[in-house]
Amino acid sequence: MSKAEGVKSFSLPKLQYDYNALAPYMSEEQLKLHHDKHHQGYVNGANAIFEKLDKARKDNVEIDIKSTLKELSFHIGGHILHSTFWDCMAPTGKGGGNPSGAIADLINKEFGSFERFKMEFTKAANSVEGSGWAVLAMQECVARPLIMQIEKHNINVYPGFRIILALDVWEHAYYMDYKNNRGKFVDGFWNVVNWDYANKVCAMIK
Ligand code: MN
Repeated sequence: MSKAEGVKSFSLPKLQYDYNALAPYMSEEQLKLHHDKHHQGYVNGANAIFEKLDKARKDNVEIDIKSTLKELSFHIGGHILHSTFWDCMAPTGKGGGNPSGAIADLINKEFGSFERFKMEFTKAANSVEGSGWAVLAMQECVARPLIMQIEKHNINVYPGFRIILALDVWEHAYYMDYKNNRGKFVDGFWNVVNWDYANKVCAMIK
């Protein structure tokens, strides 16, 4: 099957740090499995659906559009969120601590203090039902950031909101290191959160 020139497939992004860089908050084994197997699975899933769509269109055969699009959004959402999640963390010793710069200003203006934001975000992460994400996103038309819970990869998303921070709270993100103790995993995230990345996103906000 030939693809139109210029059409690309999704690919797994390389991490900006070594697999053992986030230890002890995320083990090498846990991160490698999460990145190489789970994230790769969403990349493969999205590409497979594009191929299915291409083939169906070329052969002009009917497919179940509703379920296909749902599955496509699940895989693309998974790919985008995981890519953001990796960028939201920095090696142990380089990340964590209190934010500074534009992200600190944004947090202080909306939430009153970093402590208040951290408490709300932690509670959002810990209370996601089943598999999902906690995300800090910017609604640019009202210039307010807000915390979202995302169920699976694509439910409850406000379209067009720019994601500043994303924390994966699917069990596959922490079960190897923390078993069922999601709270301990979320606490660990604050030690490796990458404020430089958050500031880069803030710089793109109008
Ligand atoms: Mn994940």
